[in-house]
Amino acid sequence: MKNIKNISTRAILLGGLALGLYSCVEDDDSTTNTGVDVVIQNVKLDLNQFRKADAGVMMQAFYWDVEPRGAWYDEVSSKIDDWAASGVNRIWLPAPGKGQSGGFSMGYDPSDYFDVGEFDQQGSVETRFGSRAELESLIQKSHSKNIEVVADIVMGHNSGGGLQENPFRPGDTEVYSLFNEDNGNASGKFNRSYEHFHPNDIHDNDEQALFFEKTDLCHDQQYVQDWLWGRDDSVAEFYKSLGFDGWRFDYVKSFAPKWVTAWNDKVGGFSVGENFDGNEQVLKDWVDASGSPAFDFACFYRLDETLDRAKDLTALGDAGNMLRKLDPDNAVTFTANHDTEKDPNPDNRISYANKLLAYSYILTHDGYPTIFYSDYENDSFKGKLKDLILIYNTIATGDVEVLVANENEYIMRRNGTGSNPGLILYMNISSNTKQYEVSTNWNNRRLADYANNSKATPVTDGSGNTTIYAPGKSFTIWSIAQ
Ligand code: ZN
Ligand code: ZN
Repeated sequence: MKNIKNISTRAILLGGLALGLYSCVEDDDSTTNTGVDVVIQNVKLDLNQFRKADAGVMMQAFYWDVEPRGAWYDEVSSKIDDWAASGVNRIWLPAPGKGQSGGFSMGYDPSDYFDVGEFDQQGSVETRFGSRAELESLIQKSHSKNIEVVADIVMGHNSGGGLQENPFRPGDTEVYSLFNEDNGNASGKFNRSYEHFHPNDIHDNDEQALFFEKTDLCHDQQYVQDWLWGRDDSVAEFYKSLGFDGWRFDYVKSFAPKWVTAWNDKVGGFSVGENFDGNEQVLKDWVDASGSPAFDFACFYRLDETLDRAKDLTALGDAGNMLRKLDPDNAVTFTANHDTEKDPNPDNRISYANKLLAYSYILTHDGYPTIFYSDYENDSFKGKLKDLILIYNTIATGDVEVLVANENEYIMRRNGTGSNPGLILYMNISSNTKQYEVSTNWNNRRLADYANNSKATPVTDGSGNTTIYAPGKSFTIWSIAQ
């Protein structure tokens, strides 16, 4: 269709003209006119008809130092209905075991893996997150909404044991490697002693990164393997019996990838590793070695670099600089987590000003996206995140083709599959509304912005070409409309 006329939405309303003949490009401040939204809503398709077989995003269901202490599982339970309605198919819960700091612990100082809030030790019966009964109730609630529950597994190091003389650390009087019924392990399961940590009779260390040097678990010890995953009453089997469906492995740099393989071989289920590294090849090598997906820290850092630091989107178009570009099926994407959000270094987190732009990226590309609790439960983001999750779960499918990547603009097309039309993402970090003539897969079709940031309804010509728009410091996501 040549000679597309530009008229205002107000004129359409007043004149009652057929929308089909016109392309409306007015991205003005007409949001006060509620009638405009009614008209534009009417041209949009119900995306639910395009729901993907593998629809779903993961919710990281906690932030650092969650409150209220002792009632977090109940707090999360109260959110499940809404999250399920938004298209969440997994929640990632904090490490369930009792930590050294008891009711204050965020779970990364594991003392008793089997005490998920039922033994009086480390100053508390409940964990920071609640009681065992509250955990089981949350898991049940999640399952009733077809949401899987992922446990955070901290198996690199331990904390909170008793003082012990350690012949492998002669002269060191500060080794807390004794874990038994009287020393941080009231469950009596997986009692530990100095020989289960490094150095020991097998070797000095496992040549992996050290986190808690003196209580760095040695997975080469058969006893440690048996209790973590091997036995029928192992940690892995116990968590599975509680109802956990999957595993998020904490700080996998501190032990060999083959131990993740061994855990998964024993109990199965979804898994993702936290390999805290912005180098995409390091991530890919770990995925290949472990057989497990990994968080895409490379994608996270590329988004931070382009949006926050360089203020130049060109690198988003570069080949191979993220795990999701190398191996999308094994990339778990994210824009924030409990660590990045509290990092005082702005280079390690994506600014609030650019947060939704970053989400527009991960929720339109391939990879399995994670939504961070504090972002979703932020009223200024929630509505947009719901729109984006719906888009991810429906029309974010087919091959990824980058059409434009320059300083201010990034335009990417998902080509769709079968009757699923796919989408076009247009990110714009300049201050002004931008427009671009693009080639689409849709001929003679009206388009709409399913991100609800533009009111334009451009129409494609017989070859699929049209002009799309993106407001300043914003994004639009185009697909076919009525
Ligand atoms: Zn070892
Ligand atoms: Zn930043």
